Amino acid sequence: MSVGPVPIVLSIDNVVKRYGSATAVAGISLDIRENEFFALLGPSGCGKTTLLRMLAGFETPTAGRILIDGVDVAPVPPNRRPVNLMFQSYALFPHMSVRANIAYGLEMEGLKRAEIKARVDAILETTHLAPLADRRPEQLSGGQRQRVALARALVKRPRVLLLDEPLGALDKKLREAMQIELKRLQHEVGITFVMVTHDQEEALVMADRMAVLKDGRLLQCDGPHAIYEQPADRFVADFIGVMNFADGTAAVDGLTAKDGTAIRGERPAGLAPGAAAVAAVRPERLKLGAEGADNRAAGRIEAVAYHGLDLQLHVRTALSPKPFLVRLTADAADRRPVAIGEDVVLGWSAADTRLFPA
Ligand code: ATP
Repeated sequence: MSVGPVPIVLSIDNVVKRYGSATAVAGISLDIRENEFFALLGPSGCGKTTLLRMLAGFETPTAGRILIDGVDVAPVPPNRRPVNLMFQSYALFPHMSVRANIAYGLEMEGLKRAEIKARVDAILETTHLAPLADRRPEQLSGGQRQRVALARALVKRPRVLLLDEPLGALDKKLREAMQIELKRLQHEVGITFVMVTHDQEEALVMADRMAVLKDGRLLQCDGPHAIYEQPADRFVADFIGVMNFADGTAAVDGLTAKDGTAIRGERPAGLAPGAAAVAAVRPERLKLGAEGADNRAAGRIEAVAYHGLDLQLHVRTALSPKPFLVRLTADAADRRPVAIGEDVVLGWSAADTRLFPA
């Protein structure tokens, strides 16, 4: 069986949004695929909510086009677009039951009663809300309300579901459970999800692909693994996960750190030897001991934190004003006990070293 290219549902074509002299979105182009769980990720003010609101039709782009299934939606008002925006506040009707809240949108569409009942029953099952169908929103927990809001959006079978920080109101434990739940749901209903979040961990866990935005610009668009392993620049490297950095000068086969340490790593095209640069390595790629390692740095353990699955060390080196974070698996920590104040040598490979312009 040949697998063709996955159809593009949503095309964002060089979209700009200005408010007076302020630019919220500075020319972004993105293609979002059918059945994809896509995340728009970035720090506060990067323009992700503005972009989402333009997809929904609540804001008009200053320039550029938004296409849904190849059709420019500029003339299409929000309620006629094949998208549905799930609000952070859920906006449930307080005096109506869960079932009535979910059915409301379909009644507005004028569907037949039997069809409404069939569709509402099905989505109550999918969202595990059937036992709560007769309760009112005030009789539900935060997580359950969130699921009602989701059910209400999904029952209309939008082509694309837009979610603005959908888990923002939930506490950490519930949030983590709902991340998995939402991903399961998306898979089950087979609808394209576009989710705005400022939480990089949430994007990594949930998204098939994500766009990292900063100052209204797209820095990188790729799958979680590629973004984590091959960040496009220093900002993405720092924003996604934890990264250790050593500033210095690009060398032919790596970087010369400020203290003179030679760090080996692949120099990207466009980073000329002699240019100000930074070398980066993830905490879990560092080892205690440098035997056989391409790179090494002497340091002293300043702090040790036990996290169950792993042990995190702060190691002061001459490479950076900040201590390096080292993550040892519980196994490695068992084999080699560590203590605050101990002198150690960190080792890591050239392949695990990323280089960026400073
Ligand atoms: P947050 O995570 O804090 O919601 P965000 O990444 O979603 O941030 P946006 O809400 O899209 O960011 O805002 C992007 C920029 O545009 C910000 O600098 C914001 O102040 C500005 N902005 C957004 N809406 C308006 C508006 N209606 N009028 C003027 N400026 C606006």
